[in-house]
Amino acid sequence: MTTPSPPFKSAQTLAVHGGTTFPKTGYGISEPIVHTAPFTYHNTADLKNVMTHRVEKQPIDRRGYARQGNPTVLAVAERLAAIEGAENVVLTQSGMKAISAVLLTFLSAGDRLILTSNLYRHTYNVAQRLLARFGVETVVVPFGDYAALEAAITPNTKLMFSEALTNPNVRVLDLERFAAIGKAHDVLTVVDATLATPLNVRPIAHGIDIVVHSASKYFSGHNDILAGAIACRQAHWQPLMDLLNWTGGLLDPNSAFLLARGLKTLAVRVQLQNETCRQLAQWLAAHPRVVKVWHPDLASHPEHTLAQRTLNGCGGLFSFELEGGLAEGEAVLDKLQLALIGPSLGGAECLVSHPSVTTWWDKTAEERAAAGIKDNLIRVSVGLEAVEDLIADFAQALDK
Ligand SMILES: *Cc1c(COP(=O)(O)O)cnc(C)c1O
Repeated sequence: MTTPSPPFKSAQTLAVHGGTTFPKTGYGISEPIVHTAPFTYHNTADLKNVMTHRVEKQPIDRRGYARQGNPTVLAVAERLAAIEGAENVVLTQSGMKAISAVLLTFLSAGDRLILTSNLYRHTYNVAQRLLARFGVETVVVPFGDYAALEAAITPNTKLMFSEALTNPNVRVLDLERFAAIGKAHDVLTVVDATLATPLNVRPIAHGIDIVVHSASKYFSGHNDILAGAIACRQAHWQPLMDLLNWTGGLLDPNSAFLLARGLKTLAVRVQLQNETCRQLAQWLAAHPRVVKVWHPDLASHPEHTLAQRTLNGCGGLFSFELEGGLAEGEAVLDKLQLALIGPSLGGAECLVSHPSVTTWWDKTAEERAAAGIKDNLIRVSVGLEAVEDLIADFAQALDK
């Protein structure tokens, strides 16, 4: 896939114009939604030509059946590849489909997978509950401990996976260090950059092999679809497409259209959310009822310097610890009027959640504490609201 020439490099411009331009029906400006399960051929010679290309593994963008690809989905994948600075992108039905497709494609029985702590919870489920049944061993090392990461690498280690920015504590991965360790030991490096977005950092430019996203979040930006993206080199794209052809799971054209629409405003949304998040986090950090705020722009954050050096912005999600415990947190959530209680992030609406009650509800207080999830922790994903209105909402909710 190619970016338009002259090579416009800004992710902001590429979010609007990136990707090759396949002819659009009626010369429209947006991607047409192509609804078809099979694709057809002019005659048997045309069919044989396509089949020969496939057998000889020569590039051809003709599909036989929608499980192998769709023009709407392909157009949006090309735009995302341009934004991410990747050779290619695969779009999937969800972020978890993207993550599981990468792990299923590049790991086999007898291999070791290394995960860092603090990841999206279902990434551990795929590794420790699904892949474990097929003989893949998973080792979890503490986030930010690069000595432990390197020490965990054995000759059978094939892949290491982390997140560019984590949730809910917004830990920041040292992408260059992570990539260098992978390269030194010939281990594939995969990073989930959902919270960061390519507006804030492009992990491939820092040497990471494969980048995955939940496109249900900032990419679509409107809390209305599920989608996933895998940005990778051409050499990795083919085996990923093979897996998705065997198992199903490519994005559908309706969601791809909404994703393309969301991408056009990605840059303005992310820039606003970076700024709103920073200001709300700073305001909360000064509030007498707030014990601690987890946001990389604050000097108290463990990766404050790394974030300043490597990120254009810290994203739209942060968390804070309130004085007291569960009950005090619940009271604040219930008093918020603008911010909605709910999971997910990256959309137009400010969403708040209480990790102890949502993702970690089935765990004991001790297990939550061991994972660094305190009962007084509240997670905030800012939306597109004016920061002064969000501050006013939190001010009244924190008022005893
Ligand atoms: C939401 C999320 C996922 C899962 O994505 P879905 O699209 O919901 O399947 C994976 N990683 C991170 C960091 C997420 O926030």
